[in-house]
Amino acid sequence: MTAESDTRPGAQVPERPRSGNPAPSGSVRAVVSPGLVERLIRRVVTGSHPVTEQVRAPFTGEVLADVPQSLPGDVQLAFETARRAQREWARRPVPERAAVFRRFHDLVLQRQSEVLDLIQAESGKARKHAFEEVADVAITARHYVAVAARLLKPRRHRGIVPGLTGATEYRHPKGVVGIISPWNYPLTLAVSDAIPAFLAGNGVVLKPDSRTALSALWAHELLTEAGLPEGLWQIVVGDGPVVGPAVVDHADYVSFTGSTRTGRQVGQQATYRLVGVSLELGGKNPLLVFDDADLDRAAEGAVRACFSSAGQLCISTERMYLHYSVYDAFLERFLERVRTMRLGAGFDFTADMGSLISGEQLDAVTAHVEDARAKGAKVLTGGRRRPEIGPLFYEPTVLSGVDESMRVCAEETFGPVVSVYSFRTEEEAIERANASPYGLNASVWTRDGRRGRDIGARLRAGTVNVNEGYASAWGSVEAPMGGMGDSGLARRHGAEGLLKYTEAQTIAVQRLMPVAPPFGMSDEQFARVMTGSLKLMKHLRMK
Ligand code: NAD
Repeated sequence: MTAESDTRPGAQVPERPRSGNPAPSGSVRAVVSPGLVERLIRRVVTGSHPVTEQVRAPFTGEVLADVPQSLPGDVQLAFETARRAQREWARRPVPERAAVFRRFHDLVLQRQSEVLDLIQAESGKARKHAFEEVADVAITARHYVAVAARLLKPRRHRGIVPGLTGATEYRHPKGVVGIISPWNYPLTLAVSDAIPAFLAGNGVVLKPDSRTALSALWAHELLTEAGLPEGLWQIVVGDGPVVGPAVVDHADYVSFTGSTRTGRQVGQQATYRLVGVSLELGGKNPLLVFDDADLDRAAEGAVRACFSSAGQLCISTERMYLHYSVYDAFLERFLERVRTMRLGAGFDFTADMGSLISGEQLDAVTAHVEDARAKGAKVLTGGRRRPEIGPLFYEPTVLSGVDESMRVCAEETFGPVVSVYSFRTEEEAIERANASPYGLNASVWTRDGRRGRDIGARLRAGTVNVNEGYASAWGSVEAPMGGMGDSGLARRHGAEGLLKYTEAQTIAVQRLMPVAPPFGMSDEQFARVMTGSLKLMKHLRMK
C-alpha cells in the first residue's frame, strides 16, 4: 500500500505544495525560517544574561529555536515598563484603543499563513486546528472592538434617595494584568485574553509556555505594527514554577490558563496578595448522544469534539454516553470515521490530526491507554504510537469497557483518547455526565433543540454545545465561557471577560438634603419617616 492510498488511522498524509510557503521537505526549519525566529525572540524581556532554552519542533524533533529565558528580575522590569506605558494608554479614549485592535484583526487574517506555520511548528497540530486559533483571535478582536466603549462607559444608577442622590458607576483599568498561558493553543491563549485587558486600558505582562512562545511573539510584532504603544505589552519566557509566581507577585490582576494543579497555586498566591484572578483549568468533558439524534451528524461532530488538536484541548470530549438504542449504530459510524482519519506532519490542510507536543504528553497518553487495557478495557481503534510519521504521533483511540478502576475513567488524559459508555434513561445520562469534579464543557446530540437546552441546563458545565462539540459555545464570544468546580473560576468572553479587568467605582452625589435627620428632626422621628418611606417604596415597587 502506498502512502497516498493508505487512509487507515495514522496513515501519513502526502505533502502538497502551498502557495506562499516553501514546499515542506520534511524539515520544519525549511518552513519557519531562522531569520523569522531570530527576529521574534528578540522581543522576549531578558537582561544581559545568556540563559536560553532549546525548543524542538514536535513534528520532527529538530531544534526550532534557542529561546532566551527571563529571570525574576526581568519580570519586575517588564512590569515597570508596562506600568509606565499604561498610564498614557489609559488616558486614550476607548475608540482610539479599539482602532489598534481593528487593524490587528485585519493583519492577523492577511498574514495568517506565517502564523499557521509557527503554530504548527511549535505545537505539532494539524493546520486546520491551527486555523481555529487564527479565527478565534479575529472573532475576539472584532467582538470587543465593537462592544468595549459601551461596556466601559459610566453607568447611572438610582441612588438611596431617589431624586436627591445620583449614583454613577465608573470602570477603571486594573493597571497591569499578568497572563499565564499553556502550550496547547499558543496564539489564542496568549492573545485572546489580552485583547479585552488592553481595551479596558490595562498593560499586560504575558508568560506563555516556554515551548510555544513564538506564536505569542509573532502577535506582539503584529500588534506593534497595528499601533499598540511601545512597552505596553511585555512578554517574559521561562521556567513555569519560577517565572510564573514572579508574574503573579507583580500583577494587578491574574488571568491564568492551565492545569487545575497549577491553577490552585496561582489562585492561592493571587488571593493572598488580594488581587483578582481568573482560572481557566482542566476538564473531563462528556458528550451525550440521545435516541433522537441525527447519528451521521453526531458521529461527524464527535470526531471534531474528541480529536481536534489531537485531544490536547481543554474543552475536547473524553467521555461519550450513548443511548443504548443507538449505541451500535452510532459507534459503527463513529469508528468508521476515526479509522479513516489521516495523521500527518505536513504544513498544509490535508491532515485530520497532528502530533502530540512532547514526550511527557505522549507518555501520559500511553500510560492511560495501557492502564485501561491492562485492567480489561477494549481498544476499539487506535492505541498505538506512530513513530514512522513523527516521534510524538499517537493514533486517535476509542475505548470501551472502561470502569472506575482505570485512570482514564476520571482523570483528564489531554490526548486523543475517548471512552464510550451506554445509558438507558435521560436521568442516568445526566447523572453520569455530572459525576466529575470538573465542569468545563459538554456536548448534547438530539434533534429536539428544546430538549437539548433543558438537558444542558441540568449539566454541570460552564459551556454546553447542542449538536456541536465545542466550537458553537467557544465561538459565541458575546456569551461567557469558563469552568465550574475544578475547571476554574471566573469567565472569559462576554461582558465578564472584559469587566474582570476593571475596578468598579461608585460615585454618589447627594443634593439638597443629607442622608440623615434634617435640621430639627430627632433620630426617632427620622427612623419613623424612613420606615414609612421604605414601605411606600416597596409598594411602588421601587428597589
Ligand atoms: P500547566 O499548569 O502545567 O502550565 C500552564 C502555565 O503555567 C505554563 O505557562 C507554565 O509554565 C505555568 N506554570 C507552571 N507552574 C507554575 C507556577 N507554579 N506558577 C505559575 N505558573 C506556572 O498546564 P499545562 O499542562 O501546560 O496545560 C494543559 C492544561 O491546561 C490542561 O489541564 C488543560 O485542560 C488546561 N487548559 C485549560 C484551558 C481552559 O480554557 N480551561 C485552556 C487550555 C488548557
